[in-house]
Amino acid sequence: MTCFDHNATSPVHESARKTWVEATERYVGNPSSSHRLGSRAEAVLGAARDRVASFLGADPANLVWMSGATEAANTAFQHLAATLPPDAEVWTTAIEHSCVLAPARLHFGERLRLIPVARAGVVDLDWLCREMQSVKPAAVAVMAANNETGVLQPWPAVRTLCREAGVLFVCDATQWLGKMPAAGLGECDLVLGSVHKCGGPPGVGFLTVPAGLVLRPLMIGGGQEGGRRAGTQNLPGILAAAAALKTREWQVVADDAVLRRGWRDGFERELIATIPGAAVVGADAPRLWNTSCVVLPRLASNTRWVIKLDKLGFAVSSGAACLSGHAAPSHVLTAMTYPPAEAERAVRFSAGWETTEAEWRSLLQACQQVWRDCGGREIAV
Ligand code: PLP
Repeated sequence: MTCFDHNATSPVHESARKTWVEATERYVGNPSSSHRLGSRAEAVLGAARDRVASFLGADPANLVWMSGATEAANTAFQHLAATLPPDAEVWTTAIEHSCVLAPARLHFGERLRLIPVARAGVVDLDWLCREMQSVKPAAVAVMAANNETGVLQPWPAVRTLCREAGVLFVCDATQWLGKMPAAGLGECDLVLGSVHKCGGPPGVGFLTVPAGLVLRPLMIGGGQEGGRRAGTQNLPGILAAAAALKTREWQVVADDAVLRRGWRDGFERELIATIPGAAVVGADAPRLWNTSCVVLPRLASNTRWVIKLDKLGFAVSSGAACLSGHAAPSHVLTAMTYPPAEAERAVRFSAGWETTEAEWRSLLQACQQVWRDCGGREIAV
């Protein structure tokens, strides 16, 4: 089975796997224990914090280990809700991951405003600039790269805008991390991160907070992480996460992505040329090199492409939110003004660093085969 669903989760990279196994053998103490085993564990935990913070350009003292970006987002929004004035507004976009949208809606309800997104899938910076001249939200949350479309968001510009206006900036960097240079992310006020999209183990992530911010912990019942997140740290996972990120940062710096973007672009060109009606989502915007979200012709139902490709040995995603087996049009494509009939036909292909050009070509052939097997024509709605 070839995985083209790395934006969901990516196989654990060898460097991370080795580090994880070694950590379980060498660092058997609890980092909070005062004996030598504990001190050794605490030392390597600190070294991993230093390493990940250095990639982000953040102060390690401001990086709090979490179980993933979902916990980081929940922690961030409950902190904001508990500490901001009761009439404070928070702005975000309708294309955020649901781990941001759900706690933002829960805690801010009517006080949550959605920043418009253009058809290409990029947040409307002009709108933000204009609106912030008359109304100032307490915080703005804009993701770095979208998980469904791969479209890159202008987070450095949003960061500058927020800094000049004295507004807190929250950035979900989950899909950006390990695929694009992490440098500069540490200058955002709150960064949500996770490592299982780029070769780290699932269940490890972080939240960075501004210097001096006293974070209201979501998890209580222990003094770990400076009282900011209770619970024994997942030391093998954290060390493995740091190892995976180190590997990926090297690949990013070495510009390995350029070649891979070319393979993805070639796949899209051929797909569009051979399957009538196929259209790339976010084609006019800068995108992650690994992601291709394509609205494909209807076969019988929008899940057929995924099932048929699965049978041919390719794991891809429907690009639509799927609840109990019932696919609903993606909230991301809906925000990009795709009508439901098109949004529900989106298929997301997402590669990893280890994906080869030959695998992109085989995927193309598999898509063409599905199309031929279905009679090479779209089924009327
Ligand atoms: N943010 C984005 C953009 C994601 O793609 C995901 C996972 O799909 C998350 C957050 C949630 O991350 P985690 O699985 O670490 O909770």
